[in-house]
Amino acid sequence: MKDVANCPKCGTLFVKALRPICNSCFTEQEKNYEKVSTFMRKKQNRMASIRELHEKTEVPLEQIHQFVREGRLLAKSFPGLGYPCESCGELIQEGRICATCKGNITGGLEKLDRESQFESQKEEKRKAEAKEKFTAYHSLNDRFKK
Ligand SMILES: [Zn+2]
Ligand SMILES: [Zn+2]
Repeated sequence: MKDVANCPKCGTLFVKALRPICNSCFTEQEKNYEKVSTFMRKKQNRMASIRELHEKTEVPLEQIHQFVREGRLLAKSFPGLGYPCESCGELIQEGRICATCKGNITGGLEKLDRESQFESQKEEKRKAEAKEKFTAYHSLNDRFKK
């Protein structure tokens, strides 16, 4: 049985054999890729921003993002290109989220860790104090008995 699916781009039913999108979308995508890579290969366009590239080639932004994300347009060679951070939408060139969001996540975890450490220290101190009071009270009682 053939693996038939709806194309995620246009919704057409197609045989999912070679690629995740239908043939006509694939042709369209490759045409777009030709356009952007031809544009970027020109020396004077090497530093072009993603918006410029989009305006000059009329290739949808999401499509350009996809090419960069997939590594078909090398972010290393074209410093103006990138794709949005999954968390804040900032343009990035590698990974799934930007450095700021990455920092926020690890920073947040560290803070949580420090807080719980602080809490347990407070708890220790409270216990120690209670014990002290208890012994003080008893030694006082002992003294009265005599
Ligand atoms: Zn399609
Ligand atoms: Zn971000």
